[in-house]
Amino acid sequence: MKKVLRLFLWLVAVLLIILIVKALFFKSLQANFGEVTTVGFGTESLLNLSEAVKYPTVSYAPGLPVDTSAFQGYIGFIRRKYPLVDSLLHLEVFNKFSLLYRWDGRNASLLPVILMAHYDVVPPGDTAGWEKGPFSGLNDSTFIWGRGTLDDKAAMISILEAVERLLSEGFVPERTIYLSFGHDEEISGEKGARAIAAYLEEKGVKAEYVLDEGMAVTVGMVPMIKEPVALVGTSEKGYLSVRLTAEMSGGHSSTPEKESALTVIAKAVGALAAKQMKPRLAGPVNDFIRYIGPEMPVFARVIFANKWLFKPLLLSIYSGSASGNALVRTTTAPTIIQAGIKDNVIPTRAEAVVNFRILPGESSADVLEHIRKVIDDSRVIIEPLKDFINEPAPFSPTDAAGFQVIFKTLRQVYPEAYVAPTLTLSATDSRHFSVITDNIYRFAPIRVTAEDMARVHGLNERTKIEDYLRGISFYYMLIKNSQ
Ligand SMILES: [Zn+2]
Repeated sequence: MKKVLRLFLWLVAVLLIILIVKALFFKSLQANFGEVTTVGFGTESLLNLSEAVKYPTVSYAPGLPVDTSAFQGYIGFIRRKYPLVDSLLHLEVFNKFSLLYRWDGRNASLLPVILMAHYDVVPPGDTAGWEKGPFSGLNDSTFIWGRGTLDDKAAMISILEAVERLLSEGFVPERTIYLSFGHDEEISGEKGARAIAAYLEEKGVKAEYVLDEGMAVTVGMVPMIKEPVALVGTSEKGYLSVRLTAEMSGGHSSTPEKESALTVIAKAVGALAAKQMKPRLAGPVNDFIRYIGPEMPVFARVIFANKWLFKPLLLSIYSGSASGNALVRTTTAPTIIQAGIKDNVIPTRAEAVVNFRILPGESSADVLEHIRKVIDDSRVIIEPLKDFINEPAPFSPTDAAGFQVIFKTLRQVYPEAYVAPTLTLSATDSRHFSVITDNIYRFAPIRVTAEDMARVHGLNERTKIEDYLRGISFYYMLIKNSQ
């Protein structure tokens, strides 16, 4: 007995040593590149963002008409306010409103860089709930208010501010730079980003990297980390909605059969909610752990450094919160259910729609198979809504030059922030560009807290003036660093 106990203690000791050694070798990846004195941007840049917000370039829904005068007015404003961009860069317009600028580099053998943003915005919602008008562009000397100040006019204006400044300084890039500005991102990007990507593909253009919106400099949003964390999306989840329909005989509710179309659909939805797809640490989440784990408090560092042992624990911690769960799993969200019109009539037809966000490494076909298996009832017709299927984006590497240059620029412009790759949960226009490059990164230089995130597509969207100005410096430095 004593022997067994001694062996056990030995094993525990060996295990502890392994855990500690692994944690000690879990070294920080947050390299320093020295402070840079960023260029000053001021009043003129503020006025330009304020004016950009004033054009109500709203995307309502696919197929619905837009306020063409707002879109035309916005383009006119861009061309007027950025005269060097307008005269020195080559402009191509797609479906009337999406813009692709080409800034020719000196060295045609280098692959170009594509900087993206979109300038359509979602509707303001309950206008009365806004503290300042959603299209006011009001500057209260701390914030600029209005739709697009976070998503995503601020990025477009920041790119233009940076390029106009570089042009005024006589800067000529070594590699060609494209600026791709979509007008319909909020409703799929079909006519904007997708058309631009198809055009580039047809011309045989390959890019070194693409940078689009998606993530941000987050403040207080990464658990256990006090410092801000600049997150860069290296992949994005896929999208699939499925309609479930059952048709059965109905009848009077005084003599119900054991089952009806309604109970069958309710059961199917309940089964999908109860039995979800398995959690997994996908590539971008593993990379996140590699970059952020070493900055965690000691206890968490030991866990993150020893995924070989703690993976089940990590997965159960992630699965515990809605936002964590979305990072490790293909999520299941029933969003529509319809049946019945009268309290004493059993409906003959019932339907539901369930929305899935697909984890990289899985596909819409995998999800459909899962659905069939879980429901396991031939009375339920399972039908994917074809118009909205996106497979998860391919996984962009962190050792590629594009990621490294974004990383370096972030560490220079936001020296107080850690930088980490991660998985983007929502769809961006950049997904259309996977035919142009393997290196697609999703980050816009805005600083956000959890409270700010609610303003994106919500009420009272606004950006802090100092954050916006720093965002311009980010693009300015990024272009210089990308040479
Ligand atoms: Zn956006």
